[in-house]
Amino acid sequence: SMASPALLMRVVASAYSVAEKAATIVRNVMSAGDLGIVEKAGPNDLQTKADRLVQMSICASLARKFPKVTIIGEEELPPDDVTEELIEGGHCEEILKKPCPAQYAGIKEEELVIWVDPLDGTKEYTEGLLDHVTVLIGIAYEGKAIAGVINQPYYNYEAGADAVLGRTIWGVLGIGAFGFQLTEAPAGKHIIITTRSHSSTLVNECISALNPDSIIRVGGAGNKIIQLIEGKASAYVFASPGCKKWDTCAPEAILHAVGGKITDIRGNSFQYNKEVKHMNSAGVLATLRNYDYYASRIPNTVKQSLVP
Ligand code: AMP
Ligand code: MG
Ligand code: MG
Repeated sequence: SMASPALLMRVVASAYSVAEKAATIVRNVMSAGDLGIVEKAGPNDLQTKADRLVQMSICASLARKFPKVTIIGEEELPPDDVTEELIEGGHCEEILKKPCPAQYAGIKEEELVIWVDPLDGTKEYTEGLLDHVTVLIGIAYEGKAIAGVINQPYYNYEAGADAVLGRTIWGVLGIGAFGFQLTEAPAGKHIIITTRSHSSTLVNECISALNPDSIIRVGGAGNKIIQLIEGKASAYVFASPGCKKWDTCAPEAILHAVGGKITDIRGNSFQYNKEVKHMNSAGVLATLRNYDYYASRIPNTVKQSLVP
């Protein structure tokens, strides 16, 4: 008989279904109309009923199947009994059929850390910019982002009532990434993608130094990485603190699985072990191709303003 699939593949296969359940919750909260908005640090740092319910759903569902895995979610929630209707027990069969890369085949539950952003782009969600929203489940081993799932609940929402709403993108280092069409940005053009709601003088100063042909300002770290891997933008540049480990873990795994690169603005890679500081204090620089072009043009003054 077949040996049972490796733990990593079972976690990714479950995270896929858990993220699809999460997307349903995100859409249901919006259509019910009561977002239950709470300010965290301030008016640009929000939490909605969807952030809360989705985090409970993802964390409880994964913890039930993989009790020894460390799961770190963005939202601080009171210890509440999670209702059974929030639990997702399914998994994606197609993922289980892929062989696990040899270097990950022996991973044990207690060696994995899962970083959860239940709803990335909350500010935009509250403003009706629904395609900016993603659900992020990142999987780390030995401090490195090795696998991830990004669900975009409102993918296709402008295509009309018949269109299938939402999609799930997943990836594992050494296997690749799936659920989208890998596309490179137009050659010779510098299309910079950055924050929409967390801008600053430094953020704009850094972009100007990169000689941009155009600038796309949209919400969400997940959304911006999707635009990189689909060729809509050449570089994601955010010269500011504010982005956290749960924002970058799943996007990093998927971007790296297709040969891209993400670091802070100073060129340091991110660490994802469970003890790490949550804040990416030195910002974000990510590309699918030509990382060195952008990295070499970040001004030293900008780098020195951002302390890791
Ligand atoms: P953005 O590109 O502005 O959507 O930011 C990407 C991610 O980082 C989102 O999850 C934001 O909530 C978070 N983020 C970025 N800057 C800040 C900030 N100044 N305060 C709180 N969250 C931030
Ligand atoms: Mg986020
Ligand atoms: Mg969030």
